[in-house]
This record gives sequence, structure tokens and C-alpha cells, in this order.
Amino acid sequence: MTPAVPTFRGPVAPAELGPTLMHEHVFVGSPELDLNHPHPEWDPDAALDTAVAALTRLHDLGVRTVVDLTVLGLGRDVARVARVAERVPVHLIAATGYYTANVLPPFFRTHGPGRLVEGPDPLVEYFVRDIEEGIAGTGVRAGTIKVVTDEEGITDDVGRVLTAAAEAHRHTGVTITTHSRPDLGTGADQLAFLRSRGVAPDRLVIGHSGDTEDLDHLRRLMDEGVTIGMDRFGMEHVLPDERRVATVLALLRLGYADRMVLSHDAACFSRMTPPSWRAVHAPHWHYENLPRRVLPMLRAGGATEADIRQMLVTNPARLLAPPPRATSAATGP
Ligand SMILES: [Zn+2]
Repeated sequence: MTPAVPTFRGPVAPAELGPTLMHEHVFVGSPELDLNHPHPEWDPDAALDTAVAALTRLHDLGVRTVVDLTVLGLGRDVARVARVAERVPVHLIAATGYYTANVLPPFFRTHGPGRLVEGPDPLVEYFVRDIEEGIAGTGVRAGTIKVVTDEEGITDDVGRVLTAAAEAHRHTGVTITTHSRPDLGTGADQLAFLRSRGVAPDRLVIGHSGDTEDLDHLRRLMDEGVTIGMDRFGMEHVLPDERRVATVLALLRLGYADRMVLSHDAACFSRMTPPSWRAVHAPHWHYENLPRRVLPMLRAGGATEADIRQMLVTNPARLLAPPPRATSAATGP
């Protein structure tokens, strides 16, 4: 029997997930900034209603599951998202991991093996506890792990996060999704680093791959068994959707439907790019862009219903399904 996928409202069979957006955010913020310098556009009560309305409309458009990759470093507040989840028809899935492109906060400098407050790396403990027991007393378990490398590459602290993610992955089998910079080839570095620490490529999603049009780079990743995230539709301030669509269509023609997932990397509220900025600079950057605008562009360009189902339903279910628990008899060297 395939183990169930943990969602905000409890376990769901992988086959029941349906059309799934693999890389989104509900609320991205900064609790410390909010406490000291509240953002004028952030109204926590109104934000709940806005998110409920957005995710309900998304269900009307056929989407059934949304993965919230808001992890530590991005203001994760699972208790707040749980209040949204209980009011919406879509399944929401939480993530663990740490978002930093360079350094971790000072706490991590003094805690860990060989550090001032000697002990095991707290990152590993946090990731595993989020996956196995639940997050911050909510009982919501994380269904995936998210890590980041950006232009700074795999710095000491980023390497520490990736190492902890690999250890949590080996312990739980949960998939790792990355934030990458495809223009700088960081996906290949992530793959090499994580693979050398026991992460099989088919349990890895290299995110933001749709930011590049370098087909050879993307094919090399997929030929290794990696799934690529074509997950920033609507981020037209980085690359217009027409060109993102052309890349997906080219890769479909080359037979890569089973190695791509689709999403927006959108948010109901993000302090980094607040609603007033998005309205002017990225008007299509929201949850409805795929069903309303991008899927019709893909179909017009030759994508079949089977292709779309593969990318939106089959691949996410494969990636989110936890592997069957190894029995002691099956545990080899
Ligand atoms: Zn993201």
C-alpha cells in the first residue's frame, strides 16, 4: 500500500491529489520586521480572507492541491496557513527546509557539532521533526523539503542546509525541491552535492528551471533523472510567459513530459514583492495564471491533454508520495 501524503487537513492518497501546483506560497513575511515595522499592506485578518478567496477560485478552475514552499527564512507560519486550509476546498501541503542564499541566523553559528553549544545540528532535528511529528504543535506534517542556492553558490551555511536536508531525506524519503539560478547553472551543483549525500535524482526537483531557455542545460538535468520545476509562470519581470511556454513545448516535443512540473511561485501576500508592486510589475503573477492563461497557451502550441495531466497530476503524485517504509529485512548495505 502506498503511504499517504500529509496535507494540512490530514493524509491524502497520492492518487487523490489531482492537479497540483508544486511551488507556491501562501504568506511570505518576516515576523521580526512585522513585529517592529509592520508593512502597511499586511493586514493579518484581511489576508486570511484574501487567501481563502484565492484558493477557492483556484479549486473552481480545477486545481486540487497546492504545495506551500514557505519554509524557515521566509516567515513560515503554519498555524496561520492552517486557518486558511480549514476554509478552502483545495489540499494544502506544508514544507520544511531553510531559505538562505548565503548565511544562516546567528543561532546556528553557536549550535551544532563542534560549536559553542555543542550538540547535533539543530537543522536536521527541525527538518525531521517537521516531517515526522508535525510543525510547531499544529500536527501539520511537512510533505517536502526546500533548499536554496543562488548567485553566491554553495556557501558554508548553504552547504550546511543542503547537508541537513539530505540527512532528513535519507531518514524520511521525502522529496527535496530547490530554489536554483539556472542562468548560473546552480541546479547541476545542487544535484552533484545532494547526490553525493545520498539523494537519488528522481527524488529531487530543481526549481525555477523555467527561468532559462537553455534546453541543453535542462535536458542534462532531466537525463540524470531530475524533475525540473517550470514553476514561475507569471514572473514576467524575469522572463515572459510566452517564452516559458515555448521552452516547455520544446521539451515536450523531445519527450520530457514525465520530468516537468508546473507552478507560479506566487503568493497571496509577500513582503518582498507586496501587492501594490505586483499589480504594476507582474499582473499575471497569481495562482490563476496557469489555468486561465498558460494552459490554453500550451494547448494552442501542441501540448496534449496527456502531457498536461502528466505534468500537473502524475508527476506531482509520484514526487509527493512518500516511499514505502523499508522493512528491516529489505534494508540492504
Ligand atoms: Zn518559491
